[in-house]
Amino acid sequence: MRIAVIGAGPAGMTAAYKISEELGKKVSALDVYELSAQVGGLSKSIDLWDQRVDLGPHRFFSHDTKINEVWLEVVGKDYDIVNRQTRIYYKKQFFDYPIRALNALKGLGLFEAARCMISYLIERLAPTRDTSTFEGWVTSRFGKRLYTIFFKTYSEKLWGISCTDLDSDFAAQRIKKLSLFEAVKNALFPGKRNKHATLVDQFAYPTRGTGSVYENMQQKISDRGGNVYLNRGVERVNTTKSSARSLTLESGETREYDHIISTMPISILVERLPEVPAAIVEQSRKLTFRNTILVYLRVDRTNLFSDQWLYVHDPSVEVGRVTNFRNWLPSVYGHSQSTILCLEYWCYLDDPLWNQDPDHLIENAGKEIVRTGLVEEGEVREGHVVRLPRCYPVYFKGYREVVKPVENYIDSVEGLHAIGRYGAYKYNNQDHSILMGLRVAENIVDGTGHDLWSINTDYEVYQESSVITKTGLQPKGS
Ligand SMILES: Cc1cc2nc3c(=O)[nH]c(=O)nc-3n(C[C@H](O)[C@H](O)[C@H](O)COP(=O)(O)OP(=O)(O)OC[C@H]3O[C@@H](n4cnc5c(N)ncnc54)[C@H](O)[C@@H]3O)c2cc1C
Repeated sequence: MRIAVIGAGPAGMTAAYKISEELGKKVSALDVYELSAQVGGLSKSIDLWDQRVDLGPHRFFSHDTKINEVWLEVVGKDYDIVNRQTRIYYKKQFFDYPIRALNALKGLGLFEAARCMISYLIERLAPTRDTSTFEGWVTSRFGKRLYTIFFKTYSEKLWGISCTDLDSDFAAQRIKKLSLFEAVKNALFPGKRNKHATLVDQFAYPTRGTGSVYENMQQKISDRGGNVYLNRGVERVNTTKSSARSLTLESGETREYDHIISTMPISILVERLPEVPAAIVEQSRKLTFRNTILVYLRVDRTNLFSDQWLYVHDPSVEVGRVTNFRNWLPSVYGHSQSTILCLEYWCYLDDPLWNQDPDHLIENAGKEIVRTGLVEEGEVREGHVVRLPRCYPVYFKGYREVVKPVENYIDSVEGLHAIGRYGAYKYNNQDHSILMGLRVAENIVDGTGHDLWSINTDYEVYQESSVITKTGLQPKGS
């Protein structure tokens, strides 16, 4: 088999890494084509001001033993454990994230807490009927008032659409269940379960940054005889009689394969397929993506705040999240005496913000971070801008009906496999993309029939639950 992979992010690299084990056996050629100059996709790490940083916060976490085993196999011993602290910053106060009811109510003060409780009781007496939207789903669990304070502003900044137009899939995937009633009960009658909830949340982080996972995979793929071509974008996949048989590079060159794994944006892939029906193109054009602008600031202080990242819920600033790379591992900041912060701004391709000049973005980010009170005037030394196009597939209301015919069409093209975050239109974390890579490799090499589209929407197979600890993999709960 000759196999091509489009894109060297976690999904594409994991697929290639697994398939490369078969080079010289079932596989005769393996080529990865990456548009940019580096592997890792959205999970790459970059060198900046003598430090190493990720593209925003990148915490790897999974309970799935297969995913954890691959991660450990690739990372080896080059990781350490980080005690996670991530909070919401609202009206110059810090609140726990994921939200804990009592902490939220305490922080809001008596009057606001009473309003939240009343609003929650109203919700219990007259529950919100339509829970298919983000607003309905969250309100039904938290009450309107808490929803407005802790979810509405941030989500609307991130997605750029009203929470009534956002599908509840996004909430169900990302927000831990919380019941105010349970929280109050647990506070009054602390039991075993309550104690459990206060355990420190930890995660494993590679000593050379998240991107080193995929750099290690790149090395292994090359050692086994595969090719990882950088700065080599794929223009289109060519199909003949319902099968994918070749791809054309941006340089115009065409190469033939038996299987093509695509992690390029699904809408671009579909639009450029030669025999695709107009109705499918029309559906794929409805799939929308949100972009991120990352503004890195070098700040002349090392003790700004203790979180790895903060969610900024204040509607008076545009920034939505701030990562503090000083609080990950010392190995990534070395001897540097400054802190690198990364401020995230979200927009669509046609928003004026997307094309704003870097100096302007840096100046604005500098002003905003001072306005939040997290950094003092005069402490920002320099800035750097990175733009991430199409990095969030938008789960707008009804998106499943739009994406389904597109998925069916891709499935009908023999030899074509679409996986990944924008590749399969899934709001994936690394673990989901790694799993897609593992499963597509099995489908191709072993002929298994995993349904790749169900990963990260309907999949929750944690039979072999485990966590990565300092000494390796441990069964969960041991
Ligand atoms: C700000 C931010 C924070 C995040 N935080 C976390 C986190 O804390 N934890 C976590 O696990 N995940 C996090 N993620 C998600 C994580 O980055 C993604 O899930 C993961 O990188 C997706 O991998 P992928 O391979 O599916 O896609 P990508 O990483 O997007 O990789 C796709 C690759 O395809 C390449 N490509 C595109 N078009 C072409 C083409 N035509 N030809 C060739 N190559 C092409 C791209 O250049 C890219 O390298 C975060 C993402 C963002 C944006």
